[in-house]
Amino acid sequence: MREIRLDPRRNEWIVISSQRASRPMTVVEKRSCPFCRDSPEAKGKEAPYWLPNAFPMLSPDEQGTPALTGAYQRMPGKGYCEVVVESFDHSADLCDLTPDELESAMKLYRDRYVELSAKEGVNAVLIFRNMGKLIGVSIEHPHSQIYAIPYVPPIIQEEINASSETCPICEETRVEERTVFSYNSVKVVFPYAPRWPYETVVIPIRHITSLAEATDKELREIGMSLGRVVGCYHRLFGVKMPYVLAFHQSPVLNSKGRLHLHVELYPALRAPDKLKHWSGAELGFGVYTYDFWPEDKAKELASICEKNEILPISSKGLPEPNAI
Ligand SMILES: [Zn+2]
Ligand SMILES: [Zn+2]
Ligand SMILES: [Zn+2]
Repeated sequence: MREIRLDPRRNEWIVISSQRASRPMTVVEKRSCPFCRDSPEAKGKEAPYWLPNAFPMLSPDEQGTPALTGAYQRMPGKGYCEVVVESFDHSADLCDLTPDELESAMKLYRDRYVELSAKEGVNAVLIFRNMGKLIGVSIEHPHSQIYAIPYVPPIIQEEINASSETCPICEETRVEERTVFSYNSVKVVFPYAPRWPYETVVIPIRHITSLAEATDKELREIGMSLGRVVGCYHRLFGVKMPYVLAFHQSPVLNSKGRLHLHVELYPALRAPDKLKHWSGAELGFGVYTYDFWPEDKAKELASICEKNEILPISSKGLPEPNAI
């Protein structure tokens, strides 16, 4: 059963998806990998490729009638969940891909965004990536995910609201002191007020509101920027940095709310052996504290990225972190 319930305490939708509990909880390694070239799932495909998620949180076949009035509101758990495999190489993270491969991956994300945007009942397409056993990734082979869901996520709605008069993302393309590096059409910055110790944002300099508006050159440089930042994260502590990245853009191709496309990256370590944990004030109240000075952390990461200007910056051979 899949159902989307409105939490009446906060007016936020929660996806209730009980069969997800049966997905693999042990890490799927190379010998039984569903994403490597010779697996039945990948047969006949060329990388990058997409496939339906084997343990989807939402399904296009979910039946049910929405109840959108009263104290307990709900809608059927209808939607699409897909996996994107950027490379057949079982241990290649984004930093191990060539600029051509990164461009192809960005084009595939764009094509899925456009196609899923057009599906009935889809009001937001979410493109994201989880990396690292420490943050619960169950299939070792690096991959990204796409959810097409019936409502606009709260974070995207907040960002749309915050950019109704002037665009704060355009502002960020003009900062100097928090710049990590830039290409002709893309800039990578530390946020003004971050939540994660080494959080960064990849921003196309032109005010484009989705991947669909990006030129081939912009897609290539967004991909190269992601590869380079991820490589810098791995090099920062000399271990494989667990991280999440999320594409923030207009929820669907023709949505009314528009948002300057950017990619947010949240690396999970604050030191080689220390994970960032959320405190009571943060989890219980949304009162976040950043334990460093963002401009200093931006400089620290920039100096690592400077040394690694030429792609690829390989993550291969680096150990998994032994962090708590
Ligand atoms: Zn594999
Ligand atoms: Zn803008
Ligand atoms: Zn954002």
